[in-house]
Amino acid sequence: MTIFEQLSSYDHEQVVFCRDEAVGLKAIIAVHNTTLGPALGGTRMLDYPSEADAVRDVLRLSRGMTYKAAVAGLDLGGGKAVIFGDPSMKTEAMFRAFGRFVDTLGGRYITAEDMNTTVEDMGNIRRETRWVTGSEAAHGGSGDPSPVTAWGCFHGIRACLEVTYGSPDVAGRTVAIQGVGNVGFWLAKYLHEAGAKLLYTDVSSKRLAKVVDSFGGAVLEGDDFYRAEADVLAPCAIGGIINPRTIPMLRAPIIAGGANNQLDDERRDGEALSSRNINYAPDYVINAGGLINVYSELKGYGREKAMQDAANIFDTVKRVINKAKVEGTTTAMAANRVAEERIAAVHRLKRVYLPRA
Ligand code: NAD
Repeated sequence: MTIFEQLSSYDHEQVVFCRDEAVGLKAIIAVHNTTLGPALGGTRMLDYPSEADAVRDVLRLSRGMTYKAAVAGLDLGGGKAVIFGDPSMKTEAMFRAFGRFVDTLGGRYITAEDMNTTVEDMGNIRRETRWVTGSEAAHGGSGDPSPVTAWGCFHGIRACLEVTYGSPDVAGRTVAIQGVGNVGFWLAKYLHEAGAKLLYTDVSSKRLAKVVDSFGGAVLEGDDFYRAEADVLAPCAIGGIINPRTIPMLRAPIIAGGANNQLDDERRDGEALSSRNINYAPDYVINAGGLINVYSELKGYGREKAMQDAANIFDTVKRVINKAKVEGTTTAMAANRVAEERIAAVHRLKRVYLPRA
């Protein structure tokens, strides 16, 4: 496929190829859709095996951001950027040069941290453009997004409980968490405070010991996570874990957690879950707290407001699951439709004539 064929298959507005040989910068900025607002999405740095891989990655990820922002009800479009190269070779000059390219877009694209980029890199970008989020909390930035992401997940879990059992009450429910890192640990804290019984699995015995020490609960080994007799499985580690191998093991009626790309194949695995009546909270809907957190930064950051906004994920998850039931589709497809319908409706807005003063 040519690059223009790829742009048309993903339906992109604009893709910018950036090059500054003097500082070793090669980057791509993809602006997928700005119907709802500026395209916000992180910049990742990776030693891509080929340029084609980098193009595919930036197109796929920027489109994902459009959907995530649209379903979350934010006034944001979707974008993403990739910088080619080994992250150990990054320099101040490289990120400043990248910042100048971001600046040329005049706010159509707003960047943030992503895989292999840090608060310090965002600081270097900020020296050249104001279209960047993710500075340190001490400097008015939004700081670590994980507590907000986990708070959104907690409310997404409550929504799933309500749809499944008729009550969002977490007390006495059993939740199995896969991955007790940044998001999983905070999620365990909120669930524990709300009276849930907790089960955990992680590849890190240190992290498991910390979470059990903090909130009690029991540890599950290997595939016992999938077989857990729990009310909710909350994947908070890695992607692709819901697949034809693991689906037959599932006993829990709800899958709701913070990890990205939980379904190995969105259509196939989404259909398998729905045919087993398992309520799956689409990952990009339930884990939107991180995006909500950086979005708040654009409006003058306050952690309390970001947490309140993330709690609205309760309504969004309920709406998506109910839409899936009404329309006879999977929750993943229903979420995509919510996004597409909102974008199409706003796209139809007419411009209002304002006489000049
Ligand atoms: P993290 O690295 O802090 O935590 C991940 C945890 O998963 C670690 O404790 C790790 O040991 C464990 N883990 C890794 N492989 C595992 C496996 N095979 N089985 C069990 N445990 C395993 O990462 P995080 O920031 O907590 O993010 C977790 C997930 O949530 C990721 O998919 C991330 O993309 C997604 N996410 C995070 C945020 C955020 O705000 N941090 C926002 C949106 C989405």
